[in-house]
Amino acid sequence: MNSNGEYDFDDHNEQSLWESIGFLKKSRSFATKSIHMDRKFEEFESSSTLSLINLTSTYKLFEAHNPSSYQYSRFGNPTRNNLEKCLASLENAKYAVTYASGLGAQTAIISTLKRGEKIVVDFDMNFDSIRLFKNFTSNMEMEIEFVDFTDLDGLKNAMTENVKLVWMESPSSRTMKVLDIRRIADFVHENLPNARLVVDNTILSSYLQCPLEFGADVVVYSINKYVHGYSDVVMGSIAVNDDKIHEKLKYHQGAMGIIPSPFDCYMVNKSLKTLSLRMDHHMKVAYKVAKWLERQPQVDLVLHPALQSHPQHDIACRQSHGHSGVFAFKLKNPENVENLLKNLKIFLKVESIGGFESFMRRAEKVDGLKIDENLINVSIGLEDADDLIEDIQQAMDGGSKGNDENGNNKLEFY
Ligand SMILES: *Cc1c(COP(=O)(O)O)cnc(C)c1O
Repeated sequence: MNSNGEYDFDDHNEQSLWESIGFLKKSRSFATKSIHMDRKFEEFESSSTLSLINLTSTYKLFEAHNPSSYQYSRFGNPTRNNLEKCLASLENAKYAVTYASGLGAQTAIISTLKRGEKIVVDFDMNFDSIRLFKNFTSNMEMEIEFVDFTDLDGLKNAMTENVKLVWMESPSSRTMKVLDIRRIADFVHENLPNARLVVDNTILSSYLQCPLEFGADVVVYSINKYVHGYSDVVMGSIAVNDDKIHEKLKYHQGAMGIIPSPFDCYMVNKSLKTLSLRMDHHMKVAYKVAKWLERQPQVDLVLHPALQSHPQHDIACRQSHGHSGVFAFKLKNPENVENLLKNLKIFLKVESIGGFESFMRRAEKVDGLKIDENLINVSIGLEDADDLIEDIQQAMDGGSKGNDENGNNKLEFY
């Protein structure tokens, strides 16, 4: 109740926590759009309140020369179009295009370059993207340079005339590095008007950050992480405002055959309806676990952008509405890392992020990049915070705690 005796929703709203930390106020209507956007499409001519799956591969041509009518599913499918409209709406973007995977989306973007053109990449990238950049750009005789975008000097030196794409992940999935999107976008556009800034926004989703609003030209996603979140679809997407870039990327989707299936599009459309709820829970639990870890004597460092101690905390607050379930930490004694991971009962030790189940593993080592191999990457799922804290506690204590009177570990769910 507030002083007027009215029920004050803000008292019970997660948002007040994130605003009090200093993050941007959340944009209105995200949840409403995620639930109702797909009803606006008349293509299905149905009174169904849920969007339908259209599995057809070939369509009858009623008007032979109407380019907007469906012809062949690789070039257009109503279920896929429906999802793309919903994704664009949640991003406040003019267009979204979906692909067979996150790397499929990246392939479509890289394929807009010609021989001899160059991509400059912030080196703190996920391993799969680095492999794609390293192995395939050289086959296509493109130039690639990895630099640190934290200060603009590295980028300045790499900005030769042939640069067409500048590519970054923020926050980065490995070290939680946050880059100033507006500052980098302005710098890129001032130096090379034809270069485009690509931001991988997989770690936050459009619920927490919309890079186009800070000057990025292309936003790219691995949808299977937070956007879908149910660990049973592989898909990627891009969001853009520019008509020309959209035209190229849409063409690559069909002409290169990097399309998601209509069934997967249906699944993602459905999962969008719980995206805001899932993110609120990931955010709240991860923040609680990170704050708890920060107080533990065995812990040396916790890297979570919502913590005051994070080196780019202020930048994170300026450009996002909060932080998801992904963070990293370090133990004081590196010899204990293996035991901690071995003793965990709830956390899965797999290489993924953004699912409903919590993950923990050592940071991936990448050739030529300075990654502290004792850094531990965490992705908090949708479990109860206290169970996750109890699991980490017992794992740090040697795995003996948490047993009930019969010697069974009550955290052993598998
Ligand atoms: C997983 C991931 C990718 C790769 O996407 P896929 O869907 O696995 O092809 C790209 N960027 C980030 C940040 C990721 O986590």
